[in-house]
Amino acid sequence: MKALTIAVDGYASCGKSTLSKDLASALGYRYIDSGAMYRAVTWYLLQHRLEAEEGENLQRALSDIAIDFVTQSGETVLLLNGKEPGLALRSKEVNSMVSPVSALHSVRQTMVQRQREFATQAGLTMDGRDIGTYVFPNAELKIFMQSRPEVRAARRLAELQNAGDTKWTVEEVLVNLRERDEMDSNRDFAPLRRAHDAIDLDNSDMNREEQLAWAMDLAIARGAQQP
Ligand code: C5P
Repeated sequence: MKALTIAVDGYASCGKSTLSKDLASALGYRYIDSGAMYRAVTWYLLQHRLEAEEGENLQRALSDIAIDFVTQSGETVLLLNGKEPGLALRSKEVNSMVSPVSALHSVRQTMVQRQREFATQAGLTMDGRDIGTYVFPNAELKIFMQSRPEVRAARRLAELQNAGDTKWTVEEVLVNLRERDEMDSNRDFAPLRRAHDAIDLDNSDMNREEQLAWAMDLAIARGAQQP
C-alpha cells in the first residue's frame, strides 16, 4: 500500500476539480487546484493593472505572489498573500485573461516549481492541463477527462449562478470554454495534452458518485489505501 500522486487533466469544466477533491477526501490526500494558481496570478495582475507580458513587472509580481492552500471547514481554499480571493478567481475578467497569462513561460515555470513542492508530502491529487504530461510525468495514476460541450457549459453556468454570478449566458460560457481549450491546447510550453499513459474518462453521463467509484477502483488497483 502506498500514497499515490494522482494527476487529473482535461478540458475546461469537465469536473476535474470535483473528482480530484472527492478522491482526495476519500483517500485522505491533499488536493491542489493548479488552475486556481493560474487564476490567482491573473487576478493579481488585473488588480495591479499589469499587462500579461514578459518583463520586469511580471518578474516582480511573481516574486511578490505567495500562494498557499489551507483547509477551512473541510474545503480546500487558496490564499493569495495570506488572503482569500474566493469568487474573484471565477470572475469574467479572470476567465477571459487566464489562458494568455498561463501561456507565459515565466508564469508557468514559477507555478510548476511551486506545484512540485506541494508533492513533497505523500498522497496528493492535482488537477490541471499539464499535470500528467509535465508537472508529474511519473504520477502513479493519470486520468484524462472530457465531457460533451453542452454538458460542460450547463455545469459551469449552474456553478456560476450558484455562486451568485448571473452575468453569463450559456452561449458566453460555451465560447469561453472553447477559447480557453483552444489556447491551452496550442500554447508552445506544456500545452493541454492527454498523457500517453493516462486513462480516459468521459463523464457526460455519470454523476459525482459514479465517477468517484470509477476512479477509486483505479487508485486501489494502483496500491492506494483508504484511510
Ligand atoms: O482549471 P481551471 O479552469 O480553473 O483553469 C483555468 C485556466 O488556467 C485554464 O484555462 C488554463 O489556461 C490554466 N491552467 C493551465 N495549466 C494548469 C491548470 C490551469 O494552464 N495546470
